[in-house]
Amino acid sequence: MKKKSPLAFKILIGMILGIVVGFFFQSNPAFAVSYIKPFGTIFLNLIKMVVVPVVLFSIIVGVISMKDIKKIGSVGLKTIAFYMITTCIAVTFGLFFANLLNVGGGYQLAGEALSYEAATAPSFMDTFVNIFPSNAVAPLANATMLQVIVIALFFGFGIILTGEKAEPVVKFVEAFNEVCMNIMNLIIKLSPIGVFALLVPVIAENGPSVLLPLLKLIVIIYLVYFIHMVIVYSLSVKAIAKISPITFFKNMFPAMSLAFSSASSVGALPLNLECTQKLGAKSEVASFVLPLGATINMDGTAIYQGVCVIFIAQVFGFDLSISQQITIILTSTLASIGTAGVPGAGMIMLAMVLQSVGLPIEGIALIAGIDRILDMGRTVVNITGDAACTVCVSAIEDKKSNLTNNTLKAVAS
Ligand code: ASP
Repeated sequence: MKKKSPLAFKILIGMILGIVVGFFFQSNPAFAVSYIKPFGTIFLNLIKMVVVPVVLFSIIVGVISMKDIKKIGSVGLKTIAFYMITTCIAVTFGLFFANLLNVGGGYQLAGEALSYEAATAPSFMDTFVNIFPSNAVAPLANATMLQVIVIALFFGFGIILTGEKAEPVVKFVEAFNEVCMNIMNLIIKLSPIGVFALLVPVIAENGPSVLLPLLKLIVIIYLVYFIHMVIVYSLSVKAIAKISPITFFKNMFPAMSLAFSSASSVGALPLNLECTQKLGAKSEVASFVLPLGATINMDGTAIYQGVCVIFIAQVFGFDLSISQQITIILTSTLASIGTAGVPGAGMIMLAMVLQSVGLPIEGIALIAGIDRILDMGRTVVNITGDAACTVCVSAIEDKKSNLTNNTLKAVAS
């Protein structure tokens, strides 16, 4: 590998070592969990510590530098459209391949007593209302990302509307943003160790006895993750952002490997900000589109839900009609929006999708044991989708501002 990307190379080494050492500890997973996992937890804690100020200040700086509230609206609309469309495609791929490859075929229910306690999923309106905080500090303390985004947007708007008088605030926010970015860069340097320490216990705990009975499900889900990324993201970055898919995926490697080892979109957010900027995305666009994506855009989760629903239906002997499958596309898209970017959240929301078509939620107990393995892959897809949207929206905005500049020049001359 070239000297240019030493971090990506170190992360790769961390991953390979993590997998090898993890296999070695399969005979003694307790050791890996007690003594190696804590270092991964420390690394993730540091990332979580820095992620709220990074998101808060970078969005405020982004809003200020766009100068125009309307422009933010147009970025927001494009972002949400991209996120929704790609998520619908993701569930559809999940359903299609799960049916085609008969995902539940060959799996024997051993008559085990299944029990799964579903958490009550909030209603759509509740989720919507909850985006708007009633307190300007609590969301920062609790890292409630959507609310942090709303606070940052309002502060940004306030600063724009105040104009000259807010100059000192602008200086402060810009300086603090730089400081946060530098703290983030320090923490990111620890990624190779973090990736190693997060992977070892997962590999150690998931031996063949856990994975083999559900191997077909795992392979199909990963296949669909792969197909979705290769088709949807490659095509969109090529067609809209004019970036070659190889360049895109190569530059995304650090963020993707952190997503894989941490199973957390929010955890991978700082590194994703860095990767997309290397790909040429404007920082004001990335700082808004990525945190939003880490909270609402979950294509990997949607794929996982689509395939798992068919798996559970087939294992329990239910036949799903076309209209039920369309219901699944809608509820999965909503469920993935409501899924938090933290490990295991997608499985909780799967209950909502199963309930929408009357399937037994106890089916989740069948896959709960391998959820972490599925979660690692879906998180990679989730954050890669956020990055694809970022580079595309940034490219469209770039084109628009070039056009305006050219028109202004033409008018002036
Ligand atoms: N772990 C996923 C993420 O952070 C969410 C999920 O569980 O599906 O993106």
